[in-house]
This record gives sequence, structure tokens and C-alpha cells, in this order.
Amino acid sequence: MKYKSSPVKITMIFTIVFVALLVALVVISNNKSETNQRITLDKQPSIEGQPTLGDLDAPVTVVEFGDFKCPACKAWGESIFPQLVSDYVDTGKVKFSFINVLFHGEESQLGSLAAESVYKQNPDVYWDFHKKLFEEQPDEDHDSKWITPEKIIEIANGIEGIDTEKLKSALESNSEKNEVSNDEEIVTEFNVQSTPTIMVNETVIEEPFNYEAIKTAIDNALKGN
Ligand code: CA
Repeated sequence: MKYKSSPVKITMIFTIVFVALLVALVVISNNKSETNQRITLDKQPSIEGQPTLGDLDAPVTVVEFGDFKCPACKAWGESIFPQLVSDYVDTGKVKFSFINVLFHGEESQLGSLAAESVYKQNPDVYWDFHKKLFEEQPDEDHDSKWITPEKIIEIANGIEGIDTEKLKSALESNSEKNEVSNDEEIVTEFNVQSTPTIMVNETVIEEPFNYEAIKTAIDNALKGN
């Protein structure tokens, strides 16, 4: 038969394909390790109108794209965030902003609306509410419904400086929906795929739980690199 290949030829073709695949794999994994810790974009997210912790004139900006419904965001807030605050925010080197991501539907939406409403009403207590809302996220079965208007009011009742009635009507009238849509636009603009996503100025930290990577990015930014 005209097109029949000899076994030797087939073996050769397989060997060539195999070697090519191997080379491709090595190249891919090398590229990956080079960009393992961070990717630098051409701009940083605007934090105008966003809840911001620390000195507004701090030279470096860290942004968390997070979701109150996301377990990893709760874990990040409890493990990495306090170190970041004591090392960099409290020392005036970093200002920290939180931008809402709505990957978990209605509950993410409600949590975001509530947080934006608290921020609008009294920016000074925003971070207390933010922290408390994450604390209320159940450790197990976080998929079950827990961000409800009742839960939000219960949390707000425990924080001095929140007018609960005002918050209730803000939730009922969706008064801060534009703030939430603004956040969604930034999430789309920066192609955020997972939460938490942490950015240090223009740099996306590939492993948000790698505090050393965050530190390095901040220190580089402080040095103007
Ligand atoms: Ca916002």
C-alpha cells in the first residue's frame, strides 16, 4: 500500500512528537516560574471613592479584590491582612483599599451593598463592619445562605456609629447600587478571575497568601522599581 508507513518511521515520528512536547513543557514551566510571584500591568485600579485604610498620601497602594462570601478572602483577612497593616499601613507606607467582587451571586451583592452603605453613612466604621461581616462567615458550609438582611442588621446593631434604620432603608432602596456596579466594572477591567486578588500598585500578586511576595512587591514599589 502506498501510504503505509514503516514501523521505524512511526517510531521516529512518535519520538519527535514526544521530544517536542517535552521541550514545550519545559519552556512553559520556565516561563511560569519567572512570573510565579507577580504580573505587572500597565496601570493600577482607581481607588477613588473606595474605602481606604491608612494615610491617603502613602506612597504605595494595595488593593484587595474580595468577596464577603468567599472563604479564602476571610482566611486572607485573618492571616495576611493584619501583618500587612502593622508592617506597612500603620507605618504610613501603604494605603489599602477593598473592591467588591460578586462571584457568589445575591449574597455577594447584598454584602457589598451593605458595606458600601455603611461606608457612605460613616466611613470611620466601615472597616469594623467589614471585619465583622467576614467573622460571621461560617467556617463550615459557607455555601449555605448566611448573608441576609437580618444578619446585616444584627452586625450593624453591634457596631457603634451605624444608624441601623438608615442602613435598612439604604438596603431596601439599593441606594449604593452604583458603587457596586462601579466595583464590578473595575473587576472586569482588571480581569479579576479569583478572590482574593491582591494588587500592589500595578502589580498583581500571583499567590495572595505568599506574604513574602507581597512584601517584595511593596518594597520594590517603595524603592521606585
Ligand atoms: Ca467599592
